Amino acid sequence: MERDLVYILGYGVDSFSFDSAVDYIFEKHGQIITINPEMIKCADKNQEFKHIIDNADMVVPDGIGVQLGLKILGHNINRIPGIDLGKALLKRASYLKKTVALIGAEQDVVENAVVNLKFDMPELNIVYYTNGYFSDDEHVISEIISKKPDLILSALGSPKQEFFNYKLKTLLPESITIGLGGSFDVWAGNVKRAPKILRNLGLEWLYRTVCEPQRLKRIFPTLPLFIIKVLKERLLKK
Ligand code: UDP
Repeated sequence: MERDLVYILGYGVDSFSFDSAVDYIFEKHGQIITINPEMIKCADKNQEFKHIIDNADMVVPDGIGVQLGLKILGHNINRIPGIDLGKALLKRASYLKKTVALIGAEQDVVENAVVNLKFDMPELNIVYYTNGYFSDDEHVISEIISKKPDLILSALGSPKQEFFNYKLKTLLPESITIGLGGSFDVWAGNVKRAPKILRNLGLEWLYRTVCEPQRLKRIFPTLPLFIIKVLKERLLKK
């Protein structure tokens, strides 16, 4: 299986189906980025972050923004929500008896997430976890290295989690890493996901914004400006 990238505003995005994304990454390992318009905006201003995205081993369209943008550019590709991909990776890791680490969120959140995940997947071998409010990256990294987890889930918010996973990439080339934003809060039971019908309609962002209005300033004006940029790219392509 090989990667098949489509491009949006200069960023390559993989066009895997959900299942083939899981198969591919367990075969090839490396860093998965769950890309969204906010990350693209951030990487446009931060060359190091762009470099990390360009050198990722898989870039999946996490939300409706990138999926819609790609549609405008003529690419019909599946949305792969990070939280769903993260869960599928855990299931596969459990099935394959691989080891797992969880890095991020508040202490009680990561602890509850671990308990709930173990309840769901009793065979899951979590060899290390820590909250995401550490000041000494190197210490946490050396602890992770000593455990050599096959799968590392980082939920530190973006771009912190992508920088953190990038540091691990050369140190643990056989591991799979993914940045999962607020997923541990959901797995801990602290934050509810949107009802399935809204998720299927691509409206999870709307639900999250209604539940957490402070998110509004993250989405606006980023999302509309992103779509305008994509429309410009589309016009220039013609
Ligand atoms: N977080 C962390 N360390 C930090 C900053 C954030 O562990 O220094 C955690 C935070 O507790 C939350 C997650 O990172 O669990 C960020 O969630 P956010 O809602 O920003 O992510 P999104 O899902 O929107 O990408």
